[in-house]
Amino acid sequence: MKEVDYKRQLNRCVRCGSCKALCPTYMEELDETMGARGRLYILQAIEEKRLEPTTRASDKLFSCIQCGACSTLCPTGIDVAEAIYHGRTILRKENRKRRFIGSLSRSSIKRIGLATSILRPIQKLLYPALLRKGIVNPIPEIAPVPFRERFNVYKEGGKRIGRIAIFVGCSINYLYPSLGESLLRVLLRLGYEVVVLKGEVCCGAPLRTFGFEEDAIKMAERNIEVFEKVRAEAVVTMCPTCTVMLKMHYPEFLGKGIENVLDINQFLLDRLPEAKVSKRVVTYFDPCHLRYGLNVTEEPRRILKAIDGIEYREMKNPPACCGFGGFFSINFRGLSNRIGDKLAGYISQTGPHVLATSCPGCMMHIEGALQRIGSERRTKKSKDLLETPIEVMHMVEVIEEAIC
Ligand code: SF4
Ligand code: SF4
Repeated sequence: MKEVDYKRQLNRCVRCGSCKALCPTYMEELDETMGARGRLYILQAIEEKRLEPTTRASDKLFSCIQCGACSTLCPTGIDVAEAIYHGRTILRKENRKRRFIGSLSRSSIKRIGLATSILRPIQKLLYPALLRKGIVNPIPEIAPVPFRERFNVYKEGGKRIGRIAIFVGCSINYLYPSLGESLLRVLLRLGYEVVVLKGEVCCGAPLRTFGFEEDAIKMAERNIEVFEKVRAEAVVTMCPTCTVMLKMHYPEFLGKGIENVLDINQFLLDRLPEAKVSKRVVTYFDPCHLRYGLNVTEEPRRILKAIDGIEYREMKNPPACCGFGGFFSINFRGLSNRIGDKLAGYISQTGPHVLATSCPGCMMHIEGALQRIGSERRTKKSKDLLETPIEVMHMVEVIEEAIC
């Protein structure tokens, strides 16, 4: 965001407070400085030199999950998350611990292949004990061979109806390669040739969360260069944070983006054949970047309702965000888990066999939260709660089961 736009955004706040109604961190803390209005006020005060850029001020800015829910309620149309991203570029050095984690993460993200190969044996060795002691949240095992290393151009016999490229994203490449495989099978079943590009790099979103805007722009340049070379009907994604970066922020950074990027729900909605699964109750959780960033809410529901065997049940009043927020879940683990547990309670009360969502980060966080409230569930023996565990599935897994 340009300096002049940043100042304009800050000055547009009329302090009405509407934004607080959806802000998950404000709802949890009931503290003015933990909501959009308070955060914008802090940024404005720093900008006007009425407030020093202290560690405390920095904490308030970095405790935003960047869900974007606030902007949908703002009568003056402020892009709060973007203003906060910009504010972080100014405040990123104010907390020593975060500065260290930020620098480490920056180097790791830029050489993520190397970083994950170092982290994998450490994860195997230490992680089970840390998990047992409740020091870390559950995360999947880092894949021995990343998804992008295993696939390139992929087709099955017979004439193909078109060519699709996948933007894999880091979480699927290293933590959930099975989701990439599911998408591959779905696209092949529909008759497409599928291209996976080895040159793809991180979309840049995690770098922005630490305030490294310039590094994120370099990632954007690299991805645009790589995807420009492939001719494909669409570039399909399974991570809403990547999708928002590719579709919305790349053009803002560079005046151009990757063409025809579509979330899998958008791409598959009108392309699916008759689909059937064994009888089950399914509810859906909207990943915040898909809902507030891209307004993709109807497509997954229509897909689920069209699958024979699924009884779709809408969840009542879920929070705007699952509470994951990437590094937010590490920096503010307690708050992140409280938001996740609240969501898990709503899911549980809905009574589904399956919680479907469209984001690997949401899957990871919700699975952990359901496990945490699971023990509570068993001790409370409440009638409205399920006896059996709730399965968390990405939409692509639900679709694969229904058509392949
Ligand atoms: S982006 Fe989300 S967490 Fe941040 S201020 Fe807005 S509603 Fe709150
Ligand atoms: S809704 Fe918009 S104008 Fe009102 S307090 Fe929030 S950010 Fe400011």
